[in-house]
Amino acid sequence: MTAKIIDGKETAAQMREELKQQVAQLTAGGVRPGLAVVLVGEDPASKSYVTAKEKACEEIGIYSSDNRLPADTSEKDLLALVEKLNRDPRIHGILVQLPLPKHIDESKVLLAIDPDKDVDGFHPVNVGRMVVGQEAFLPCTPHGVIQLLLRHKVKLDGAEVVVIGRSNIVGKPVANMLIQKSPTGNATVTICHTRSKHTAEHCRRADIIIAAAGRPNTVTADMVKEGAVVIDVGVNRIEDASRKSGFRLVGDVDFNAVKEKASLITPVPGGVGPMTITMLLYNTVQSAQRKS
Ligand code: NAP
Repeated sequence: MTAKIIDGKETAAQMREELKQQVAQLTAGGVRPGLAVVLVGEDPASKSYVTAKEKACEEIGIYSSDNRLPADTSEKDLLALVEKLNRDPRIHGILVQLPLPKHIDESKVLLAIDPDKDVDGFHPVNVGRMVVGQEAFLPCTPHGVIQLLLRHKVKLDGAEVVVIGRSNIVGKPVANMLIQKSPTGNATVTICHTRSKHTAEHCRRADIIIAAAGRPNTVTADMVKEGAVVIDVGVNRIEDASRKSGFRLVGDVDFNAVKEKASLITPVPGGVGPMTITMLLYNTVQSAQRKS
């Protein structure tokens, strides 16, 4: 079997078109969704993520407030800015780009964000709401994975899923969403990590494998059941002398070999990645809808 390749860019574009219409409706009704992005320092990767987020807002009509602060900004000043944004009625979502400079306590800053504006879904209040199945802002990358599965008609109800990785930003939340008693859950989930003894065996019986380990070749063809769905969240830089940059991006899955066994597979780049910012826009629109 050769897998159908999931085009994350296409799914993200469809969702952004839907969101654009919702933004137009909200704006016409007097509530234009607004996202505040906060960047402290000059980290080049963070700068390019923030620019991409602002551009994505602009494209679908979300008001974006750009807050770029110098690297030596004090924790007190950053907390004061978050407080100001919490009170600003034009702002429905606040995103503080991580990592923050070492002299700032990241968890203190994330806790200061009003949970009702926490569109990254990292505030413990939103994590708790998600776990108990209440309405919550779902973290963007794991929610993007769920949307890719749903929009490609992958049956989650009763599916055997293996999640590789147990981080707070990908592994744990995606596993949690998949076990919820809801149409977007109802799966049977096994979570593997570096102390797991039988990751390959678990994977071999999985209908769906979600790889979020951050290690190339974590999932090889011998670990994949014929016809399984394989979602690759990993983004890894590997040396490639043939590229001008000297590197290329690969996922956690041995894509070329695994695509010959899977029924559906996401590429890297172009799979899960484009969904992440889209889900941030989704959460911002959802937040504005609550205020309309
Ligand atoms: P992380 O915090 O480093 O967590 C990696 C997890 O994978 C850990 O739980 C680790 O286990 C587990 N792991 C590592 N090697 C393993 C192996 N060989 N077998 C089984 N488990 C293994 O990483 P993360 O933040 O979750 O991100 C994971 C990957 O997704 C990274 O490549 C990251 O760049 C990518 N990512 C992509 C997006 C996107 O938008 N596309 C967004 C976020 C992250 P232990 O807990 O035992 O250490």
